[in-house]
Amino acid sequence: MGDFTAANAAPAPSTAGAFRIVAHPSPATEAERIERVGDMKFGMSFTDHMARITWTADGGWDDRRIEPYGPIPMDPAASVLHYAQEIFEGLKAYRWADGSVWLFRPEANALRFQKSAWRMALPELAVEDFMGSIRAFMSVEKDWVPTAPESSLYLRPFLIGTDVFLGLRAPKKVDYLLIASPSGPYFAGGVKPVSIWVEKDFHRAGPGGTGSAKCGGNYAASLRPQIEAGARGYDQVLYLDAATGLVLEELGGMNVFAVRSDGSVLTPVLNGNILEGVTRSSVIQLIEDQDLKVVERNITLAELREGIDSGEISEVFACGTAAIVTPVGRMGSDDFEVTVGDGQPGPVTLAVRQRLTDIQYGRADDAFGWMQRVV
Ligand SMILES: *Cc1c(COP(=O)(O)O)cnc(C)c1O
Repeated sequence: MGDFTAANAAPAPSTAGAFRIVAHPSPATEAERIERVGDMKFGMSFTDHMARITWTADGGWDDRRIEPYGPIPMDPAASVLHYAQEIFEGLKAYRWADGSVWLFRPEANALRFQKSAWRMALPELAVEDFMGSIRAFMSVEKDWVPTAPESSLYLRPFLIGTDVFLGLRAPKKVDYLLIASPSGPYFAGGVKPVSIWVEKDFHRAGPGGTGSAKCGGNYAASLRPQIEAGARGYDQVLYLDAATGLVLEELGGMNVFAVRSDGSVLTPVLNGNILEGVTRSSVIQLIEDQDLKVVERNITLAELREGIDSGEISEVFACGTAAIVTPVGRMGSDDFEVTVGDGQPGPVTLAVRQRLTDIQYGRADDAFGWMQRVV
């Protein structure tokens, strides 16, 4: 198990009160907001405001504010534009039937944000500031959290080096921002299995690299393989380890699980190249709570293929905040093509997806203490 178990404790203190609020001069009208919230094209429309904190080497974290959403003027020599000094997070605010708004294990995201910052030589934002930015932001933008089933307000915190210097060094100026986009259900019209291309030529991350940091650069490197896989008719890419090319790691932005016919579950062990998903950690706990065994270890592609062929592996699924738990129906590469089970979502996949979303939307008891109310 990774680092997140400690994040189940009581809500972290927050610096929400320290944020000054600069109101948008011409915010969306109620009709415009309802239209934009209802539209819910993920990542295409944003709320009226953003949270921001500026860090300088001399002054530390300063000027906590909520300000109008908009372009961020930047010097062309800013370090993020040249050396990709950027990390991000992704989490959702969920509206419950009684109108209240909740976050799912936000401290896990705050801790991971610190870990990513450390790897990229960016300053670490205190958990209190991460939480404070979300709380202050949500107090202004609460009406943007959609009410439709399985919808949410997607929150995107990120950190960029804004140092004006073309030399390569840890930046002396950094900006933390939080923006948000109303998002609808990932699968409009019910959960559909995805197809996965197992990538043999390109790698997402290598030993000692940045695979376990949530940094934009990892995503830039995944676009070419994603395009090639798309051209071959596959939805997503599964990466193998760069050292041997034999062992499963993860998808471009989701962790992967395989269910055996005896109900036990396998997932790649965190080997330093894999991004530790909050969803991954939660899925492991939910499955173990059902008295099923989860084994975190190296899984070779050969083992997966043989298991799917023999029926020993009956389900494969991927998971992450955006798509929650996604069944994999078909896998292939240059030398094979297999249907997983009967190609339809399996019972273990659907059950864990249901349990997780029931907790997130307040339909089931939150036995793990994962949910935190913000509004
Ligand atoms: C964000 C991400 C995940 C999923 O993490 P969650 O916390 O579950 O959303 C998995 N893999 C990669 C590479 C990621 O960037």
